[in-house]
Amino acid sequence: MRWKEMTVQNLQEFFIPLGSFPVEFRKLRVVALVRLFLIIPTLFLFTLHSLLTMKTQAHAPEVMDRIILTWGFMALLYLLSNLALYLLPENKKKLSFSLIYLGIILELGTNQLLLYSLGSLTSHATLFIILTVVVYRVFFDFFSSLFAAISGVLFFSISALLEVAGIITLAPGLPEAIQHPIYTGDPSFFPLRIIQAVILGIFTAFIIINFGMNQAHKLENTLHNLSMKDGLTGLFNRRYFDQQLLQELKRAQRSSNPLTLILIDIDFFKNFNDQFGHLRGDDCLKEIASSLKSCLQRPGDIIARYGGEEFAVILPETSLEKGALVAEKLRQKIVALQIPAPPSTGDAWVTISLGLASSNSEEDAPELLLDRADLALYQAKEKGRNRIELTA
Ligand code: GH3
Ligand code: MG
Ligand code: MG
Repeated sequence: MRWKEMTVQNLQEFFIPLGSFPVEFRKLRVVALVRLFLIIPTLFLFTLHSLLTMKTQAHAPEVMDRIILTWGFMALLYLLSNLALYLLPENKKKLSFSLIYLGIILELGTNQLLLYSLGSLTSHATLFIILTVVVYRVFFDFFSSLFAAISGVLFFSISALLEVAGIITLAPGLPEAIQHPIYTGDPSFFPLRIIQAVILGIFTAFIIINFGMNQAHKLENTLHNLSMKDGLTGLFNRRYFDQQLLQELKRAQRSSNPLTLILIDIDFFKNFNDQFGHLRGDDCLKEIASSLKSCLQRPGDIIARYGGEEFAVILPETSLEKGALVAEKLRQKIVALQIPAPPSTGDAWVTISLGLASSNSEEDAPELLLDRADLALYQAKEKGRNRIELTA
Protein backbone atom coordinates (compact mmCIF):
# COMPACT_ATOMS: atom_id res chain seq x y z
CA MET A 1 0.00 0.00 0.00
CA ARG A 2 2.76 2.43 0.92
CA TRP A 3 4.69 1.58 -2.23
CA LYS A 4 1.60 2.01 -4.31
CA GLU A 5 0.92 5.41 -2.77
CA MET A 6 4.50 6.46 -3.29
CA THR A 7 4.47 5.41 -6.94
CA VAL A 8 1.28 7.32 -7.57
CA GLN A 9 2.74 10.34 -5.78
CA ASN A 10 5.95 10.17 -7.82
CA LEU A 11 4.06 9.97 -11.09
CA GLN A 12 1.92 12.91 -10.06
CA GLU A 13 5.00 14.91 -9.26
CA PHE A 14 6.31 14.43 -12.78
CA PHE A 15 3.18 15.27 -14.64
CA ILE A 16 0.68 17.02 -12.39
CA PRO A 17 1.40 20.20 -10.44
CA LEU A 18 1.22 18.99 -6.81
CA GLY A 19 3.59 18.70 -3.87
CA SER A 20 7.05 17.11 -4.23
CA PHE A 21 10.34 15.97 -2.66
CA PRO A 22 12.79 18.28 -1.00
CA VAL A 23 16.45 17.97 -2.00
CA GLU A 24 18.15 15.74 0.55
CA PHE A 25 21.80 15.03 0.91
CA ARG A 26 21.12 11.77 2.76
CA LYS A 27 19.05 10.52 -0.16
CA LEU A 28 21.90 11.17 -2.60
CA ARG A 29 24.17 8.99 -0.49
CA VAL A 30 21.66 6.18 -0.47
CA VAL A 31 21.49 6.44 -4.25
CA ALA A 32 25.28 6.21 -4.45
CA LEU A 33 25.14 3.07 -2.32
CA VAL A 34 22.42 1.49 -4.47
CA ARG A 35 24.46 2.19 -7.58
CA LEU A 36 27.57 0.69 -6.05
CA PHE A 37 25.96 -2.55 -4.97
CA LEU A 38 23.19 -3.02 -7.49
CA ILE A 39 23.51 -1.04 -10.68
CA ILE A 40 27.24 -1.36 -11.30
CA PRO A 41 27.31 -5.19 -10.95
CA THR A 42 24.17 -5.45 -13.11
CA LEU A 43 25.69 -3.23 -15.80
CA PHE A 44 28.86 -5.27 -15.64
CA LEU A 45 27.02 -8.55 -16.18
CA PHE A 46 24.94 -7.00 -18.95
CA THR A 47 28.03 -5.76 -20.79
CA LEU A 48 29.87 -9.03 -20.30
CA HIS A 49 26.93 -10.78 -21.86
CA SER A 50 26.87 -8.42 -24.87
CA LEU A 51 30.62 -8.80 -25.35
CA LEU A 52 30.34 -12.57 -25.32
CA THR A 53 27.55 -12.54 -27.90
CA MET A 54 29.52 -10.08 -30.05
CA LYS A 55 32.43 -12.43 -30.13
CA THR A 56 30.31 -14.87 -32.03
CA GLN A 57 29.61 -12.12 -34.61
CA ALA A 58 33.28 -12.12 -35.66
CA HIS A 59 34.28 -8.56 -34.72
CA ALA A 60 37.86 -7.64 -35.36
CA PRO A 61 40.01 -8.09 -32.23
CA GLU A 62 40.89 -4.37 -32.12
CA VAL A 63 37.21 -3.47 -32.08
CA MET A 64 36.63 -5.83 -29.16
CA ASP A 65 39.62 -4.32 -27.35
CA ARG A 66 38.32 -0.82 -27.92
CA ILE A 67 34.88 -1.71 -26.61
CA ILE A 68 36.30 -3.40 -23.54
CA LEU A 69 38.61 -0.46 -22.89
CA THR A 70 35.80 2.09 -23.20
CA TRP A 71 33.52 0.08 -20.99
CA GLY A 72 36.28 -0.38 -18.39
CA PHE A 73 36.98 3.37 -18.42
CA MET A 74 33.28 4.14 -18.01
CA ALA A 75 32.81 1.64 -15.19
CA LEU A 76 35.87 2.93 -13.33
CA LEU A 77 34.71 6.56 -13.50
CA TYR A 78 31.21 5.60 -12.44
CA LEU A 79 32.56 3.50 -9.59
CA LEU A 80 34.91 6.24 -8.38
CA SER A 81 32.37 9.06 -8.54
CA ASN A 82 29.75 7.03 -6.66
CA LEU A 83 32.25 5.82 -4.10
CA ALA A 84 33.39 9.39 -3.51
CA LEU A 85 29.78 10.54 -3.23
CA TYR A 86 29.09 7.86 -0.66
CA LEU A 87 32.22 8.45 1.39
CA LEU A 88 32.13 12.24 1.43
CA PRO A 89 31.23 13.68 4.85
CA GLU A 90 28.00 15.67 5.05
CA ASN A 91 29.73 18.98 5.49
CA LYS A 92 31.28 18.65 2.02
CA LYS A 93 27.99 19.46 0.34
CA LYS A 94 29.47 21.68 -2.33
CA LEU A 95 32.05 19.12 -3.35
CA SER A 96 29.49 16.35 -3.52
CA PHE A 97 27.24 18.43 -5.77
CA SER A 98 30.21 19.18 -8.07
CA LEU A 99 30.81 15.45 -8.16
CA ILE A 100 27.23 14.84 -9.19
CA TYR A 101 27.57 17.28 -12.11
CA LEU A 102 30.91 15.80 -13.11
CA GLY A 103 29.32 12.36 -12.89
CA ILE A 104 26.57 13.36 -15.31
CA ILE A 105 29.07 14.67 -17.87
CA LEU A 106 31.15 11.54 -17.51
CA GLU A 107 28.13 9.27 -17.83
CA LEU A 108 26.87 11.01 -20.94
CA GLY A 109 30.34 11.47 -22.45
CA THR A 110 31.58 7.92 -21.97
CA ASN A 111 28.22 6.64 -23.09
CA GLN A 112 28.72 8.46 -26.39
CA LEU A 113 32.23 7.02 -26.60
CA LEU A 114 30.93 3.51 -26.11
CA LEU A 115 28.25 3.97 -28.75
CA TYR A 116 30.84 5.39 -31.12
CA SER A 117 33.02 2.35 -30.72
CA LEU A 118 29.94 0.28 -31.50
CA GLY A 119 29.17 2.11 -34.72
CA SER A 120 27.19 5.33 -34.19
CA LEU A 121 27.17 8.42 -32.01
CA THR A 122 23.46 9.01 -32.19
CA SER A 123 21.28 5.96 -31.91
CA HIS A 124 17.99 5.32 -30.16
CA ALA A 125 20.03 3.80 -27.35
CA THR A 126 21.69 7.21 -26.81
CA LEU A 127 18.32 8.85 -26.45
CA PHE A 128 17.17 6.17 -24.09
CA ILE A 129 20.23 6.54 -21.90
CA ILE A 130 19.97 10.34 -21.77
CA LEU A 131 16.33 10.00 -20.79
CA THR A 132 17.21 7.51 -18.05
CA VAL A 133 19.98 9.73 -16.70
CA VAL A 134 17.54 12.63 -16.53
CA VAL A 135 14.51 10.81 -15.15
CA TYR A 136 16.17 8.98 -12.30
CA ARG A 137 17.76 12.21 -11.19
CA VAL A 138 14.43 13.98 -11.06
CA PHE A 139 13.69 11.78 -8.04
CA PHE A 140 16.59 13.27 -6.13
CA ASP A 141 17.18 16.83 -7.05
CA PHE A 142 15.99 19.40 -9.49
CA PHE A 143 19.17 21.11 -10.63
CA SER A 144 21.19 18.05 -11.52
CA SER A 145 18.30 16.65 -13.55
CA LEU A 146 17.95 19.96 -15.37
CA PHE A 147 21.69 19.90 -15.92
CA ALA A 148 21.49 16.30 -17.20
CA ALA A 149 18.65 17.23 -19.56
CA ILE A 150 20.44 20.25 -21.03
CA SER A 151 23.81 18.54 -21.38
CA GLY A 152 22.14 15.38 -22.73
CA VAL A 153 20.33 17.28 -25.45
CA LEU A 154 23.49 19.27 -26.27
CA PHE A 155 25.59 16.09 -26.45
CA PHE A 156 23.05 14.50 -28.71
CA SER A 157 22.55 17.43 -31.07
CA ILE A 158 26.28 18.13 -31.41
CA SER A 159 26.97 14.46 -32.06
CA ALA A 160 24.26 14.40 -34.73
CA LEU A 161 25.79 17.49 -36.36
CA LEU A 162 29.29 16.02 -36.26
CA GLU A 163 28.08 12.80 -37.81
CA VAL A 164 26.12 14.46 -40.58
CA ALA A 165 28.86 16.94 -41.41
CA GLY A 166 31.22 14.01 -41.68
CA ILE A 167 33.64 15.50 -39.14
CA ILE A 168 33.54 12.28 -37.17
CA THR A 169 33.61 9.23 -39.36
CA LEU A 170 32.86 5.65 -38.55
CA ALA A 171 35.09 4.07 -35.93
CA PRO A 172 37.60 1.89 -37.80
CA GLY A 173 37.38 -1.88 -37.86
CA LEU A 174 33.64 -2.25 -37.63
CA PRO A 175 32.06 -4.75 -40.01
CA GLU A 176 29.97 -3.27 -42.80
CA ALA A 177 26.89 -5.10 -41.48
CA ILE A 178 26.51 -2.98 -38.35
CA GLN A 179 27.39 0.32 -39.98
CA HIS A 180 24.82 2.88 -39.15
CA PRO A 181 22.72 4.03 -42.11
CA ILE A 182 23.82 7.59 -41.40
CA TYR A 183 27.30 6.74 -42.75
CA THR A 184 25.93 5.38 -45.96
CA GLY A 185 25.00 8.93 -46.84
CA ASP A 186 21.25 8.91 -46.20
CA PRO A 187 20.50 12.63 -45.66
CA SER A 188 17.01 11.96 -44.28
CA PHE A 189 18.59 10.96 -40.99
CA PHE A 190 19.67 14.44 -40.04
CA PRO A 191 16.21 15.99 -39.58
CA LEU A 192 15.03 12.81 -37.86
CA ARG A 193 17.78 13.09 -35.26
CA ILE A 194 17.06 16.77 -34.69
CA ILE A 195 13.35 16.05 -34.24
CA GLN A 196 14.23 13.32 -31.75
CA ALA A 197 16.46 15.71 -29.80
CA VAL A 198 13.77 18.39 -29.73
CA ILE A 199 11.13 15.93 -28.50
CA LEU A 200 13.51 14.68 -25.85
CA GLY A 201 14.27 18.25 -24.81
CA ILE A 202 10.61 19.25 -24.58
CA PHE A 203 9.71 16.14 -22.61
CA THR A 204 12.51 16.50 -20.09
CA ALA A 205 11.99 20.24 -19.75
CA PHE A 206 8.31 19.60 -19.10
CA ILE A 207 8.79 17.08 -16.31
CA ILE A 208 11.65 19.02 -14.74
CA ILE A 209 9.86 22.36 -14.75
CA ASN A 210 6.75 20.68 -13.39
CA PHE A 211 8.81 19.02 -10.69
CA GLY A 212 10.52 22.29 -9.80
CA MET A 213 7.23 24.16 -9.56
CA ASN A 214 5.86 21.40 -7.35
CA GLN A 215 8.80 21.83 -5.02
CA ALA A 216 8.27 25.55 -4.77
CA HIS A 217 4.59 24.95 -4.14
CA LYS A 218 5.32 22.47 -1.35
CA LEU A 219 7.82 24.79 0.28
CA GLU A 220 5.25 27.56 0.22
CA ASN A 221 2.73 25.21 1.85
CA THR A 222 5.19 24.25 4.56
CA LEU A 223 5.93 27.88 5.32
CA HIS A 224 2.24 28.68 5.37
CA ASN A 225 1.61 25.78 7.78
CA LEU A 226 4.48 26.87 10.00
CA SER A 227 3.01 30.34 10.25
CA MET A 228 -0.33 29.07 11.52
CA LYS A 229 0.67 26.07 13.65
CA ASP A 230 1.93 25.84 17.21
CA GLY A 231 5.35 24.21 17.37
CA LEU A 232 4.82 22.05 20.46
CA THR A 233 1.35 20.60 19.96
CA GLY A 234 0.88 20.92 16.20
CA LEU A 235 -2.49 22.60 16.81
CA PHE A 236 -3.29 25.96 15.22
CA ASN A 237 -1.64 28.89 16.95
CA ARG A 238 -3.35 31.84 18.57
CA ARG A 239 -2.77 34.17 15.63
CA TYR A 240 -4.55 31.82 13.24
CA PHE A 241 -7.28 31.16 15.81
CA ASP A 242 -8.02 34.85 16.20
CA GLN A 243 -8.36 35.26 12.43
CA GLN A 244 -10.67 32.24 12.21
CA LEU A 245 -12.81 33.38 15.13
CA LEU A 246 -13.40 36.72 13.44
CA GLN A 247 -14.34 35.04 10.15
CA GLU A 248 -16.53 32.34 11.69
CA LEU A 249 -18.32 34.87 13.83
CA LYS A 250 -19.13 37.03 10.79
CA ARG A 251 -20.28 33.97 8.90
CA ALA A 252 -22.50 32.89 11.81
CA GLN A 253 -24.04 36.35 12.04
CA ARG A 254 -24.70 36.49 8.29
CA SER A 255 -26.46 33.14 8.34
CA SER A 256 -28.07 33.67 11.79
CA ASN A 257 -26.53 30.45 13.04
CA PRO A 258 -25.28 30.04 16.60
CA LEU A 259 -21.55 29.63 17.26
CA THR A 260 -20.04 28.26 20.45
CA LEU A 261 -16.61 29.02 21.82
CA ILE A 262 -14.90 26.85 24.44
CA LEU A 263 -11.87 27.96 26.44
CA ILE A 264 -9.99 25.12 28.11
CA ASP A 265 -7.37 25.35 30.87
CA ILE A 266 -5.44 22.49 32.43
CA ASP A 267 -5.97 22.32 36.20
CA PHE A 268 -3.02 22.85 38.55
CA PHE A 269 -0.54 22.65 35.71
CA LYS A 270 2.00 24.69 37.57
CA ASN A 271 2.07 21.97 40.24
CA PHE A 272 2.52 19.36 37.52
CA ASN A 273 5.59 21.17 36.20
CA ASP A 274 6.97 21.72 39.68
CA GLN A 275 6.53 18.08 40.57
CA PHE A 276 7.54 16.33 37.34
CA GLY A 277 9.59 18.93 35.49
CA HIS A 278 8.95 20.94 32.33
CA LEU A 279 9.77 18.13 29.92
CA ARG A 280 7.07 15.87 31.30
CA GLY A 281 4.88 18.95 31.37
CA ASP A 282 5.42 19.40 27.65
CA ASP A 283 4.62 15.74 26.97
CA CYS A 284 1.43 16.08 28.99
CA LEU A 285 0.45 19.17 26.95
CA LYS A 286 1.01 17.27 23.70
CA GLU A 287 -1.02 14.30 24.85
CA ILE A 288 -3.92 16.48 25.99
CA ALA A 289 -3.76 18.50 22.75
CA SER A 290 -4.03 15.43 20.55
CA SER A 291 -6.82 13.91 22.66
CA LEU A 292 -8.84 17.10 22.50
CA LYS A 293 -8.33 17.27 18.75
CA SER A 294 -9.38 13.66 18.25
CA CYS A 295 -12.70 14.37 20.00
CA LEU A 296 -13.73 17.04 17.51
CA GLN A 297 -15.35 15.33 14.60
CA ARG A 298 -16.96 17.99 12.46
CA PRO A 299 -14.69 19.29 9.71
CA GLY A 300 -15.57 22.91 10.55
CA ASP A 301 -14.50 22.64 14.21
CA ILE A 302 -11.28 24.47 14.99
CA ILE A 303 -9.01 23.84 17.96
CA ALA A 304 -5.96 25.94 18.81
CA ARG A 305 -3.39 26.29 21.54
CA TYR A 306 -4.46 29.60 22.96
CA GLY A 307 -1.77 30.14 25.56
CA GLY A 308 0.68 28.14 27.69
CA GLU A 309 -1.67 25.40 28.95
CA GLU A 310 -4.84 26.84 27.46
CA PHE A 311 -6.75 25.69 24.42
CA ALA A 312 -9.63 27.24 22.52
CA VAL A 313 -12.27 25.58 20.35
CA ILE A 314 -14.63 27.11 17.80
CA LEU A 315 -17.77 25.10 17.11
CA PRO A 316 -19.59 26.70 14.15
CA GLU A 317 -23.35 26.13 13.80
CA THR A 318 -23.51 24.81 17.35
CA SER A 319 -25.81 26.05 20.11
CA LEU A 320 -24.69 26.49 23.71
CA GLU A 321 -26.52 23.28 24.72
CA LYS A 322 -24.92 21.23 21.96
CA GLY A 323 -21.57 22.85 22.74
CA ALA A 324 -21.95 21.79 26.37
CA LEU A 325 -22.25 18.16 25.24
CA VAL A 326 -19.02 18.49 23.26
CA ALA A 327 -17.30 20.20 26.21
CA GLU A 328 -18.40 17.46 28.59
CA LYS A 329 -17.06 14.85 26.17
CA LEU A 330 -13.72 16.68 26.11
CA ARG A 331 -13.59 16.82 29.91
CA GLN A 332 -14.30 13.09 30.25
CA LYS A 333 -11.78 12.24 27.57
CA ILE A 334 -8.98 13.94 29.51
CA VAL A 335 -9.93 12.23 32.78
CA ALA A 336 -9.96 8.92 30.91
CA LEU A 337 -6.35 9.50 29.81
CA GLN A 338 -5.45 8.86 33.47
CA ILE A 339 -2.37 11.05 33.46
CA PRO A 340 -1.19 10.93 37.12
CA ALA A 341 -1.66 14.31 38.81
CA PRO A 342 0.91 15.64 41.30
CA PRO A 343 -0.01 14.62 44.89
CA SER A 344 -0.13 18.28 45.97
CA THR A 345 -3.42 18.73 44.07
CA GLY A 346 -5.23 15.95 45.89
CA ASP A 347 -6.48 14.60 42.53
CA ALA A 348 -5.68 11.24 41.03
CA TRP A 349 -5.56 12.34 37.39
CA VAL A 350 -4.83 15.49 35.44
CA THR A 351 -8.08 17.32 34.59
CA ILE A 352 -9.24 20.33 32.61
CA SER A 353 -11.73 23.13 33.24
CA LEU A 354 -13.86 24.50 30.43
CA GLY A 355 -15.71 27.77 29.91
CA LEU A 356 -18.30 28.16 27.15
CA ALA A 357 -19.91 31.13 25.47
CA SER A 358 -22.24 31.31 22.49
CA SER A 359 -22.91 34.05 20.05
CA ASN A 360 -26.46 34.71 19.00
CA SER A 361 -26.44 38.43 18.60
CA GLU A 362 -25.43 40.60 15.70
CA GLU A 363 -23.28 42.86 17.85
CA ASP A 364 -21.03 40.15 19.21
CA ALA A 365 -17.37 40.90 18.62
CA PRO A 366 -14.67 38.22 19.11
CA GLU A 367 -13.39 40.04 22.21
CA LEU A 368 -16.81 39.99 23.86
CA LEU A 369 -17.25 36.29 23.18
CA LEU A 370 -13.77 35.53 24.49
CA ASP A 371 -14.44 37.60 27.62
CA ARG A 372 -17.64 35.67 28.34
CA ALA A 373 -15.95 32.31 27.81
CA ASP A 374 -13.09 33.42 30.03
CA LEU A 375 -15.52 34.42 32.75
CA ALA A 376 -17.17 30.99 32.53
CA LEU A 377 -13.78 29.34 32.75
CA TYR A 378 -13.00 31.40 35.84
CA GLN A 379 -16.25 30.19 37.41
CA ALA A 380 -15.38 26.58 36.59
CA LYS A 381 -12.07 27.04 38.40
CA GLU A 382 -13.81 28.71 41.35
CA LYS A 383 -16.35 25.93 41.68
CA GLY A 384 -13.65 23.30 42.07
CA ARG A 385 -12.19 22.65 38.58
CA ASN A 386 -12.65 19.53 36.36
CA ARG A 387 -16.01 20.89 35.19
CA ILE A 388 -17.70 22.93 32.47
CA GLU A 389 -19.44 26.26 32.95
CA LEU A 390 -21.63 28.17 30.53
CA THR A 391 -22.53 31.77 29.83
CA ALA A 392 -25.10 32.77 27.30
P1 GH3 B 1 -5.23 26.47 37.48
O1 GH3 B 1 -5.91 25.19 37.82
O2 GH3 B 1 -5.79 27.60 38.26
O3 GH3 B 1 -5.24 26.73 36.02
O4 GH3 B 1 -3.74 26.28 37.94
P2 GH3 B 1 -2.47 26.30 37.00
O5 GH3 B 1 -1.30 25.92 37.82
O6 GH3 B 1 -2.70 25.48 35.80
O7 GH3 B 1 -2.49 27.79 36.53
P3 GH3 B 1 -1.42 28.85 36.18
O8 GH3 B 1 -1.96 29.68 35.05
O9 GH3 B 1 -1.00 29.55 37.42
O10 GH3 B 1 -0.18 28.03 35.63
C1 GH3 B 1 -0.04 27.65 34.32
C2 GH3 B 1 1.26 26.95 34.24
O11 GH3 B 1 1.39 26.28 33.01
C3 GH3 B 1 2.45 27.87 34.33
C4 GH3 B 1 3.50 27.14 33.57
O12 GH3 B 1 4.39 26.49 34.46
C5 GH3 B 1 2.75 26.10 32.80
N1 GH3 B 1 2.99 26.19 31.37
C6 GH3 B 1 2.57 27.12 30.53
N2 GH3 B 1 3.04 26.86 29.28
C7 GH3 B 1 3.78 25.74 29.35
C8 GH3 B 1 4.52 24.96 28.41
O13 GH3 B 1 4.59 25.27 27.21
N3 GH3 B 1 5.15 23.85 28.87
C9 GH3 B 1 5.08 23.49 30.17
N4 GH3 B 1 5.71 22.38 30.56
N5 GH3 B 1 4.40 24.21 31.07
C10 GH3 B 1 3.75 25.31 30.69
MG1 MG C 1 -3.73 29.10 32.73
MG1 MG D 1 -4.18 26.01 34.44
